[in-house]
Amino acid sequence: MPTTDFERYNDEFGPEKIVHLYDPHTGMRGFVVVDNTACGPAIGGVRMAKDVSVDEVYRLARAMTLKNAAAGLPHGGGKAGLVADPKGKIKHSLVRSFARCIRELTSYIPGPDMGTDETCMGLIWDEIGRSVGLPRVLGGIPLDEIGATGFGLARCAEVAAEFAGLKLKGSTLAIEGFGNVGRPAARFLGELGVKLVAASDTQGAVYDPQGLDIEKLSQTKLRTGSVTGYATGKKLEGKDLFAVASDILIPAARPDCIHEGNVGSIKAKLIIQGANIPATPAAEASLRDRGVLIVPDFIANAGGVICASVEFHGGTQAMAFDLIAQRIRDNTQAVMTRSQEERIPPRQAAVDLATERVRTAMAMRRKNGS
Ligand code: NAD
Repeated sequence: MPTTDFERYNDEFGPEKIVHLYDPHTGMRGFVVVDNTACGPAIGGVRMAKDVSVDEVYRLARAMTLKNAAAGLPHGGGKAGLVADPKGKIKHSLVRSFARCIRELTSYIPGPDMGTDETCMGLIWDEIGRSVGLPRVLGGIPLDEIGATGFGLARCAEVAAEFAGLKLKGSTLAIEGFGNVGRPAARFLGELGVKLVAASDTQGAVYDPQGLDIEKLSQTKLRTGSVTGYATGKKLEGKDLFAVASDILIPAARPDCIHEGNVGSIKAKLIIQGANIPATPAAEASLRDRGVLIVPDFIANAGGVICASVEFHGGTQAMAFDLIAQRIRDNTQAVMTRSQEERIPPRQAAVDLATERVRTAMAMRRKNGS
């Protein structure tokens, strides 16, 4: 059993730094994990949640190392966590305080994640001149506003559906977490003829096998704060979303929402992981045994970070959409093909692809003492 944090976390890739942050003036508490910077400075989101932990941030930082390498970006992986209520009154002063604390940590470029948004990135930019996912007025490509990650999930679905033996037009979809990832994913998949039958958020879920009107549901969510305010359809508890009959399931909220306790009830044939690490390893193995095709998080949901990277390097929104479509289609194809040919799980194929790229980059870096 590991006895120290070093033994628990360190392996051949990182993490290079785990930094605890505390500002006694504002009460800001948080952490940054810079996992690996062989491909370039680490890009990764700032997650604000009352229960965010170092463990969660570490796992997300590693996912960013793999995601950025898989997407062929000149960036390593990192992530930050702010232990706070994202609906709290002092949110913006905590974000500013966080920014000041990471001024010298130039190997980490913050972006938006759950609980933070473009405005937060604007505040960080104002403090230290280093962030991505900026509002348009500051020259950014607002990745959540344009639905960059949801757009990428739809491009991923186009390729993955063929491997799952599904025709997208007319297939049904359930989305856990109707937020900045889930809402645009529904919209872009709706454009391909996919029928949204269920969606959830923290308040519960709504289900209609005849299909939910994506535009009306989005308006309801934005106006009332929850999908449960939708006029028609059956209201369910959030956890029951996983058991509804749908061809495609997109988890787009918190980690580990698919676990031993609910994996048996899942009916989908294709799972596209919008959220980061939404399934436990045991649950993924059980789904695989049942023939469910899973596109791993860091392949499927790379749209946001590809967009952020295009912004960081001075590109336009049109360039971002083009690059997202190209990289996510190519990577989904490569991972699914490798998975079939080598008879390995898609996640293993994706990890192999990404780690090969990280190792190649690490081999070009000077080693300590040489
Ligand atoms: P968000 O805060 O905009 O939306 C999250 C949604 O999930 C909200 O509607 C919330 O009510 C809901 N939710 C939270 N807990 C839930 C639960 N237990 N059950 C059901 N619904 C729940 O966040 P987001 O930006 O959409 O991010 C969602 C996930 O996608 C996160 O895991 C994030 O790391 C990942 N992700 C986001 C992006 C991006 O571009 N925003 C990119 C890649 C990955």
